[in-house]
Amino acid sequence: MTPRALQCRRHLDRLASAARAIARPLAFMEVCGTHTVAAFRSGLHSLLPEGVRLLSGPGCPVCVTSQGDIDLLIDLGLDCRNLTLCTYGDMIRVMGTRGSLSSARSNGADVRIVYSAMDAVRLAAADRKHQVVFAAVGFETTAPATAAAILAAEAQGLTNFTVLASHKLILPALRALLDSGQVNFDGFLLPGHVSVIIGAQAYHPIVERYAIPCVVAGFEDVQIADAMARLAEMVRDGDKGPENLYPEAVTPFGNPIAMALLDKVFEPADVTWRALGTVPQSGLEVRKRFALFDAKIRFGLRAAFAPEPRGCRCGDVITGRCTPVDCPLFGSGCTPTQAIGPCMVSSEGTCAAWFKYGRSGRLRKVASDSSHQKQKMEALS
Ligand code: SF4
Repeated sequence: MTPRALQCRRHLDRLASAARAIARPLAFMEVCGTHTVAAFRSGLHSLLPEGVRLLSGPGCPVCVTSQGDIDLLIDLGLDCRNLTLCTYGDMIRVMGTRGSLSSARSNGADVRIVYSAMDAVRLAAADRKHQVVFAAVGFETTAPATAAAILAAEAQGLTNFTVLASHKLILPALRALLDSGQVNFDGFLLPGHVSVIIGAQAYHPIVERYAIPCVVAGFEDVQIADAMARLAEMVRDGDKGPENLYPEAVTPFGNPIAMALLDKVFEPADVTWRALGTVPQSGLEVRKRFALFDAKIRFGLRAAFAPEPRGCRCGDVITGRCTPVDCPLFGSGCTPTQAIGPCMVSSEGTCAAWFKYGRSGRLRKVASDSSHQKQKMEALS
């Protein structure tokens, strides 16, 4: 056994020991798409002790983007032909009510995949007569880069660059989830990337109000196993945290420069999430002072309500109410090459990760555990 595997084994033994002492099923929720993929890729799910599960939460940026926001993007691409729509790669295949950005591109829309918001700024600077819209999604992790892009566009005097902002904030999402009354988990594995920006101390209000154990974790299998063991020990001992097990990247108060950038360019706004609905002050809107760079204002855009694809249970998957295999479309009507919901499209989506790593049978145990989850949910409802 390698030293790393040995370390992982030790954490899993700690987890098993705490779970035995608690003597009831345990579930923890990770709220970061990178944790979702890391846990699946390393096979961690299949190594968890009997009765312990790791659920996915609303941490995948593409998956939490509402159907209405996706429709808005697709309509913009289709309706405004003298415009280039720049987006991160995962967004292009997400289905809206009337196709996807990919199908819009086949129908003549100028949709381009970029790796950063600055790529879109450069595109706008290269041809100032042509409008460029950057579709900005993501949490506090990607929002500072969008803010920096707006400031760069302003510094260059660009009048042809705008942002269609669908940025989300993690703390209101956690609150909304906990307020939903359908909480079937015992602690949060907090997102490492977002925590780099907002800092570990930012979770204190969550712990104080909901008395739920919270641990900030890194992305290695060893780190995730350590965080899960710690969460189980906290449940056993009545501790809540928040604890920071990722101090090499996450400081108590985060990244003040990134936070200042966010505050300068954006202001909190009520936004709509997939599964969570409209959550007060849970998103970021471009401040009035930067209205020139706000695509919603420049093009008079407003998202309308749009239902989720028929039969798709992405909303339940990203709130821990079910696992992908509980969706009747999983693996038959919905696959990575023909995805129906965003959780199967995004590289950080739970359904995509389950499909990629779970079909070998390693996750059969996890799938069968979902009957326990159903019982727990029925008891709650
Ligand atoms: Fe949605 Fe497909 Fe996942 Fe079902 S399998 S919840 S349709 S993404």
